[in-house]
Amino acid sequence: MQRASPTIPPALAEAIRRTFGYTSLRPLQAEAMNAALEGRDALVVLATGAGKSLCYQAPALLRDGLTVVVSPLISLMKDQADGLAGNGVPAAMLTSAQDAPERRAVRERIARRQLRLLFVSPERLLLDGFFQELMVSGMSSLVIDEAHCISHWGHDFRPEYRQIGALRRSHPELPVQAYTATATPAVREDIARELCLQAAVIVVGSSDRPNLTYRFQPRGDTFSQVLAVIRRHPEQAGIVYCLRRKDVESLAKDLAAAGVRALPYHAGLAPEVREKHQDAFVQERVDVIVATVAFGMGIDRSDVRFVVHASLPKGIEQYSQESGRAGRDGLSAECVMLYSAADYHGWKALMTRGAEEGDPADAARASAELDASLARLSQMLTFAGGAVCRHRFLAEHFGEVWPNRGVPPGCGACDVCLGELAPTQDAKVVAQKILSCVVRCEQRYGAAHVADVLRGADTERLRRAGHDQLSTHGLLRGHEAREIRHWIDQLVALEHLRVTNGEYPTLFLSKSGVEVMRGERPVELFSLPKLSKSARARTTAASAAGLSPEVAGADAELFERLRALRRRLAQEKAVPPYLIFNDRTLAELAARRPATPAEFRQIKGVGDRKAEELGAVFLTEINYGRGT
Ligand code: ADP
Ligand code: ZN
Repeated sequence: MQRASPTIPPALAEAIRRTFGYTSLRPLQAEAMNAALEGRDALVVLATGAGKSLCYQAPALLRDGLTVVVSPLISLMKDQADGLAGNGVPAAMLTSAQDAPERRAVRERIARRQLRLLFVSPERLLLDGFFQELMVSGMSSLVIDEAHCISHWGHDFRPEYRQIGALRRSHPELPVQAYTATATPAVREDIARELCLQAAVIVVGSSDRPNLTYRFQPRGDTFSQVLAVIRRHPEQAGIVYCLRRKDVESLAKDLAAAGVRALPYHAGLAPEVREKHQDAFVQERVDVIVATVAFGMGIDRSDVRFVVHASLPKGIEQYSQESGRAGRDGLSAECVMLYSAADYHGWKALMTRGAEEGDPADAARASAELDASLARLSQMLTFAGGAVCRHRFLAEHFGEVWPNRGVPPGCGACDVCLGELAPTQDAKVVAQKILSCVVRCEQRYGAAHVADVLRGADTERLRRAGHDQLSTHGLLRGHEAREIRHWIDQLVALEHLRVTNGEYPTLFLSKSGVEVMRGERPVELFSLPKLSKSARARTTAASAAGLSPEVAGADAELFERLRALRRRLAQEKAVPPYLIFNDRTLAELAARRPATPAEFRQIKGVGDRKAEELGAVFLTEINYGRGT
């Protein structure tokens, strides 16, 4: 039986309703908020989009004194401070991006105890005397956002984060709450130890992101595959990740030529250009950013409706981080990965070169690190090529027990569970042919060679090896090399085939592979997907405009008009559009069509301040907007 979730004090519930316009809490938010109200240390691990900010923002409204939030990025701080100010909460940030008079004004407000929340960078917190200044001004709680930055094991280690621990040690009476979306146990332990958390309340949610739909496809024609995804999301925000800068440039150009509002982003562009493109995306002047993984940290546009990986990411953690930038507002979003075994070798070459170019004195460490990177990479390929529920695979990778295990129809939000992959007829025979061909090739050749033998290729290389004479030569004649490779990838993912780690990776059979070959073990394989058709049908059925089922009743035309209005207001106020209202709120407005200020106030995400400021203009648009 499920445990009832704990309640929060009525005064807090009322403050949340009035300020943020929410009448219910998401899972585990109550636990985190109660810990904050009780002044306890806490470590809160909740997936992206699960609503961490509210957990520390809301209690700060009630508690005496100032809540100081440490955050690694100015853009994140600015969004939160602006968002709170928009909801009528006295909040500010103090960063290097402000000029001296602005900073002075904020410090005055701190000294006068006029603020409830203050956002600062770790560098600022560590400045001589500043912490003391905060203590004197009534700081009553310290929140560490993106707390995984404190850990070497995390993906964005920040040395300044480490030094926060020392401040904490000299003020054990100050409650500290750490928030992160990164759930690995090593990172969690690091955070608790470095911050000297005492008798901490530990709140850990599922890392699963139920609103994301995952689709993995072997890469054929990158451009048309990417375009197919973009066409499923007209005028919606998306990110396309490429491996190399030159891929970014050419794809961005091709997409623009096809009429997509797209811009490139990578570390090779001048800083001003990068900033300009990032701003255009945040301000909704472009829909799509084509980028290397340099893009994303600090992009708090919460209405990203799709993320495409045009090649295999470096590891599962990275994949989850990068794809996780989709759907932060909790509405449905799509994550598509295009992969090929060639990406594995591309990465491997890069990593190997990187390791060789390092300091020779460090050779032993570099070689150990290289092995670890390669292991992560091959895990990633296994994930991509396999036909296991994507949600389940990710959850289990992060150490969770997947409740849906083996129960059809599964998660309902990945290509596997949605039945979009075409099962291969005679999978058993196909697998047997492939496995026996690997054996005939004496388990000394790689996937490309084995695929050539199977499709009956007539090449110099095969003749030289005498492999045109093998009994398995041409056993899969009539199938494209791409398709045979796809099956081989799946057999690797299912661990029936293994790959050696040497310079020329070769295939060999595992114990289970031998059993499959002998027909003693069942096997399921999938053929190359017929691209985009089924995906399109399902996406449009579920959501005309990226709306999740709960708001699918929304009038798509009205939703678009409200988006346009939001864009206009955002420009006037010089804030990002989602700070006006997020998509979920717009969708609910479009679905419920409030007619009076009182009805408007009932919409999720409408607090007192916004009801007063924005009610009239939105009500006008909803009730009289058509045809004007
Ligand atoms: P995180 O920091 O965990 O990634 P956010 O704090 O940015 O997530 O929250 C994601 C979205 O969910 C935001 O748009 C936020 O306003 C919304 N949200 C948070 N809590 C609630 C709630 N209790 N009810 C409705 N929406 C919520
Ligand atoms: Zn699934």
